[in-house]
Amino acid sequence: MERLDKHRGNARQVVVPLVRRDSIGASHHVLTFEFETALEAAAGQFAMVRGASWGESPFLPRPMSLLSGGKRPSILVKVVGEGTRRLAASEPGDMFSVLAPLGRPWSPCPSERTPLLVAGGVGVCPLLFLARSLTEQGHRSIALYGGRCSTDLALDEELGAESDLRLATEDGSLGVMGRVTVLLEKALAETRGRAKIYACGPEPMMAAVV
Ligand SMILES: Cc1cc2nc3c(=O)[nH]c(=O)nc-3n(C[C@H](O)[C@H](O)[C@H](O)COP(=O)(O)OP(=O)(O)OC[C@H]3O[C@@H](n4cnc5c(N)ncnc54)[C@H](O)[C@@H]3O)c2cc1C
Repeated sequence: MERLDKHRGNARQVVVPLVRRDSIGASHHVLTFEFETALEAAAGQFAMVRGASWGESPFLPRPMSLLSGGKRPSILVKVVGEGTRRLAASEPGDMFSVLAPLGRPWSPCPSERTPLLVAGGVGVCPLLFLARSLTEQGHRSIALYGGRCSTDLALDEELGAESDLRLATEDGSLGVMGRVTVLLEKALAETRGRAKIYACGPEPMMAAVV
């Protein structure tokens, strides 16, 4: 028990209502919950989320990055299977079991560095949380955001409001044609070794960034 508490840090398990579901196209949804006590979470942390009325299927909670903390924390859900389909079909008033915050937040950006955010797919969620925090701290971030096609780039306008945003799609339907890493070389040259890189996305993207 002691080891479990140590591992969890300040995470707590609560049962809370959904207060909003905002659909972005067919497969992305922002879900907002209402907490009695504000959730003290930082960018890069995630939650384990499960509908209180799901019965036995799916049995396990689903990990979702936090888009925000506070009294109304939110998550971005992309539908890929049964758990995310049920999350996407939920309605305000539905109750959810949420264990959060989990994981380690991203480290701060020194004032002399330029934050360079590299997002692939739903990796945009924790990076938008980060971009908002960095703006509050007085940084101007550069954000590179890629997906297979334009409909993969959920929350691009919100990210653009917090950063100098550059987009890439593999089919060329938005931004430059190609993977997000095609934008990275130019951004690195521009920041002349002063960039601090924050990245979140699919494994091949992470491998290419590293
Ligand atoms: C730390 C963490 C943070 C995450 N943050 C987000 C987020 O902010 N938004 C979001 O939409 N998703 C996020 N995910 C992924 C999300 O947890 C899975 O998509 C979800 O659990 C799938 O559940 P499901 O029941 O819908 O699909 P399942 O029925 O479990 O799987 C359906 C299909 O999706 C594939 N799949 C399942 N999990 C993943 C995964 N992690 N990556 C790639 N493919 C997967 C399976 O192989 C299968 O093909 C995160 C995952 C982790 C580990």
